[in-house]
Amino acid sequence: MVSRTRDRFRLPRWGQRGTTGAAIPAELTFEDVVQRFGDLKALDHISLSIRPGELVCLLGHSGCGKTTLLRVAAGIESPTSGRVLMDGREVTGPHAFMAPEERGIGLMFQDYALFPHLTVLENVAFGLRALPADQVEHAARRALSRVGLDRAAAEYPHTLSGGEQQRVALARSIAPRPGVLLMDEPFSNLDRRMRDAVRDETVAILREIGATTIVVTHDPEEAMRIADRIVLMRSGMIVQHGSAEDLYLRPADLFAARFFCDFNEVESVVEGGRVSTPIGVFPAAHLPEGTAAVVCIRPQGIRLRPPGFCLPARVVSRRFLGEVDLVHLAVQGLDRPIQARLRTATPATPGHDVGVDVDPHEVLVFAALHP
Ligand code: ATP
Repeated sequence: MVSRTRDRFRLPRWGQRGTTGAAIPAELTFEDVVQRFGDLKALDHISLSIRPGELVCLLGHSGCGKTTLLRVAAGIESPTSGRVLMDGREVTGPHAFMAPEERGIGLMFQDYALFPHLTVLENVAFGLRALPADQVEHAARRALSRVGLDRAAAEYPHTLSGGEQQRVALARSIAPRPGVLLMDEPFSNLDRRMRDAVRDETVAILREIGATTIVVTHDPEEAMRIADRIVLMRSGMIVQHGSAEDLYLRPADLFAARFFCDFNEVESVVEGGRVSTPIGVFPAAHLPEGTAAVVCIRPQGIRLRPPGFCLPARVVSRRFLGEVDLVHLAVQGLDRPIQARLRTATPATPGHDVGVDVDPHEVLVFAALHP
């Protein structure tokens, strides 16, 4: 039965901040973890240490091994080789294997994995079986209250909206106050408008509980919004890890750069410590002579000048995107138009000639990736 006390079309307010209760965060360490599925190396020598209380985002394209790494941490999957340690104690490895339910790890899945035959309260209480019986309901109600769903306690999951189900799953994962929380794409089933608010409140709850947290995502903006540290993966390996600024401003290679920005890319070869392109000459002393290089220019690094100044170009198209306009420009010597993100007031009419200037701070030069 759907409760009449809740408005079905508006999500309830979240509970009071600061009422989540704190966990004792654990350090989580992966040591040279390999996971093979036949010929496929889903995890290829992963070594990573996550500090107590740190919020790490595992970021990467579909199939790069993010979920497999979570499953190994949770103990749902045994790796081919390598070790997992919690606070320095081996929980997976040649010398020990601790069962998932003994690890003190909270899990939250993309599809929420709520039990359909249990009420909301029973779903949240499910993870609290280690507590004395008289404390279970109190702890479950407290977690439900923090996510604003205390009045839905007696309902069944199928009567709730997607946003409410997400909150029940969150309440269930935090109720036991785990030392480590593993969340697999926890926001991907929410619509875009709702996602920002849910994400902000979820992060507030994660900060209150203080657990060491891994959030899996394939959305770089989401990772930049919530993570203390981003771990970028590709083909079972860690490409780079660091702060949002590290990865955005100082990407380790062309793959990492492309993940965070839709660059204009121009191919060239390093000669005399520089790369020459139809749109300018850029320093490349960090690459060996003769390297096949890709010059990456951020769309916000393209500036327009009056015709006759700087590099000659013609405006091909212009699209209003709200805060900026996306302008395509044909530049002599380039096969494809380049894209510029310009303030909406910038004069640029399709068909008109303009001058183009490149901000050197918005240019990165990388070795081309091998196919
Ligand atoms: P997604 O974002 O799509 O969930 P992911 O980065 O989480 O992807 P994983 O689910 O970890 O990727 O999978 C990594 C690779 O391992 C994929 O190629 C997948 O098909 C493969 N894989 C995962 N689990 C198994 C399994 N049990 N048996 C065989 N192959 C598997």
